Amino acid sequence: MDIIDQEVKYLKGVGPQRAELLKKYLKISTNRDLLYNFPYKYIDRTEIMKINNLVDGMDYVQIKGRIVDFIEPPTTGRKKRLQATFTDGTGFVELVWFNGLKYITEQYKVGQELLILGRPSFYNGRPSFVHPEIEQLKQNAEVKKEMSPRYHLSEKLEGRISQRQISDITRNALELIKDRIRETLPQSIISEYKLQEIYASLWGMHFPKNSNELVSARYRLKFEELFYLQLEILRYSHQRKQSKGFYFPKIGHLFHGFYENNLPFELTNAQKRVVKEVRADFASGKQMNRLIQGDVGSGKTLVALLCALIAIDNGYQVCMMAPTEILAEQHFKTLLEFTTGLPIKIELLTSSVKGKRRNNILEELYNGEINLLIGTHAVIEPNVKFNNLGFCIIDEQHRFGVKQRATLWEKNKIPPHILVMTATPIPRTLAMTLYGDLDVSVIDELPPGRKPIQTRHYYFNQNSNLLNVLNSELAKGRQIYIVYPLIEENEHSDLLDLENGYEKICKLFPQYKVSKLHGKMKPAEKEEEMKKFASAETHILVATTVIEVGVNVPNATIMLIQHAERFGLAQLHQLRGRVGRGAANSYCILLTPFELSAHTRRRMEIMVETTDGFIIAEEDLKLRGPGDLEGTAQSGLPIDLKVSNITRDADLMALARQAAYQVIQSDPNEQLPQFAVCWQQLKLLKKQFANYSEIS
Ligand code: ADP
Ligand code: MG
Repeated sequence: MDIIDQEVKYLKGVGPQRAELLKKYLKISTNRDLLYNFPYKYIDRTEIMKINNLVDGMDYVQIKGRIVDFIEPPTTGRKKRLQATFTDGTGFVELVWFNGLKYITEQYKVGQELLILGRPSFYNGRPSFVHPEIEQLKQNAEVKKEMSPRYHLSEKLEGRISQRQISDITRNALELIKDRIRETLPQSIISEYKLQEIYASLWGMHFPKNSNELVSARYRLKFEELFYLQLEILRYSHQRKQSKGFYFPKIGHLFHGFYENNLPFELTNAQKRVVKEVRADFASGKQMNRLIQGDVGSGKTLVALLCALIAIDNGYQVCMMAPTEILAEQHFKTLLEFTTGLPIKIELLTSSVKGKRRNNILEELYNGEINLLIGTHAVIEPNVKFNNLGFCIIDEQHRFGVKQRATLWEKNKIPPHILVMTATPIPRTLAMTLYGDLDVSVIDELPPGRKPIQTRHYYFNQNSNLLNVLNSELAKGRQIYIVYPLIEENEHSDLLDLENGYEKICKLFPQYKVSKLHGKMKPAEKEEEMKKFASAETHILVATTVIEVGVNVPNATIMLIQHAERFGLAQLHQLRGRVGRGAANSYCILLTPFELSAHTRRRMEIMVETTDGFIIAEEDLKLRGPGDLEGTAQSGLPIDLKVSNITRDADLMALARQAAYQVIQSDPNEQLPQFAVCWQQLKLLKKQFANYSEIS
């Protein structure tokens, strides 16, 4: 065993008791865990403050002096408190503890020379330090001038393990592994990308002498993380490309039948091109992993269906996954309609399909009667067994990482072909990570006859004409969406809410029927309301953002968004995409209060200026940074990132990907001795996340 994998309890300064604490509260059990437990910040300790120079609002400072006395003030409450008066000759401060009182009085004596570190707070003009860090100084010892690491400590460790102790044992671990630690990157990469050796980097992360040292150490470790992330993604993609895939050579009677009898309109050139690309993949004998990017309304569903028909024509089953039940139901309905008269069996499986019906579906799926299963992620649960799954479509997913996709592969002996469809354009670096294992097709054309949606921004109560506009659309037989940011009234916010809005709208439009849709409704109710609206039985749909994704009612021509300031650009774009799906003129109306921040005002302007999803995505990034997207992306990664960040370190990611690509190219079979370290390290990094599938 490598010394780095030895348990920390054998480390100088640890012992069984502390080892227990480290494990329990910091999840540190080996030297490796300890060494990769990086500080969250560093404190510049080159200066020692005088007490008479302390002022309110100072950050971390250190002072050197002696404790004059201890007192335990009588307490009326339950919580005991220990106080000490401390002086450096220029003034007095108070030190205060609420926990670990016994330990403190045993450890520190009156008169002893101590170094106090902490953030001063002021009470009655007197500075005090609550739970300061304390170092005992040896006689006449010089105070070390350094950047001092600060580690995340659990509150439970207060008075049991200090910052100082963590940093001491970390130093011991570093000394122990000196000359015995193995380099974790191949030498060729270290020299080509001018990286530091691993040992120096670990030192530099914990005990940098200055900020330059920290920068080099961090650079190397970030590079390494991103390198292994990309290596895993590329390895995986490479392996998929090698691995056998189902062979779908023929275009059969389903596809032809559909094309001749069912296709309601001419395909766009972009749709034709993408279907062709998929056909080529299907006939290649290799597994397809393809991403279709196409703006809202570009007709991805139809492309998916055409591809599904090819798979079914070749004797295989298909599943289609959507992120929400509403969307799954919508797809189910759309595809049933599209395929009227064709000899195929389509079923819907979500978590609200239960009991006998569920058992029936599972049975028919297993014996192969069902050709196409549509559902939420319920379709990838282990108990859902296909007869012969050959093709899987994942719609509107940006919630699905590389790892989740992999679970699909276990659904058949050979992994099924995979088609991912997304309307959310994402920046290149994120794409590299989220979809780095996929080939990309783009639908860059909207079906003809679409009139661009006109977008207007009004302040509440500003536009007295609004009611007339709504009435005139309704009179033409059109339908309207009205979106609210909240379901119910809430004492903490003065936002308009759906429940009140619903009542108001019913009163305003007595001659029309109003539907209501929100996330707290039962799936069956939701389905019912959606059905009514889709069949034009109701005319106005009052909803929350549950309708954000995918819902398709071409007769709806107005999307009115209450409190549009509460929504992000991507969300507004998705919501707007619910209208403009037919040939009639459509409108998106954004209602906000008058007072708006500059950012929010800009968001409204962008929405009014353009309907191009790619431009909106770029503007969104500029305004807001990659935020949520980053969160979901980062949590879906096959390797945990400790020091790097997939968007902030975008440039480094590109470099790391290039390095990883070189390795895959030179050593595709994972056999060359100079790259052995890569494959070992990758295994190790992945092993720590072996139970990932339990999370997803
Ligand atoms: P998205 O790409 O957002 O998923 P959909 O697949 O829901 O878009 O398609 C949006 C609308 O456009 C649907 O009503 C669909 O029937 C229609 N549509 C798709 N392809 C075409 C086409 N080639 N010509 C006309 N309408 C089309
Ligand atoms: Mg769609």
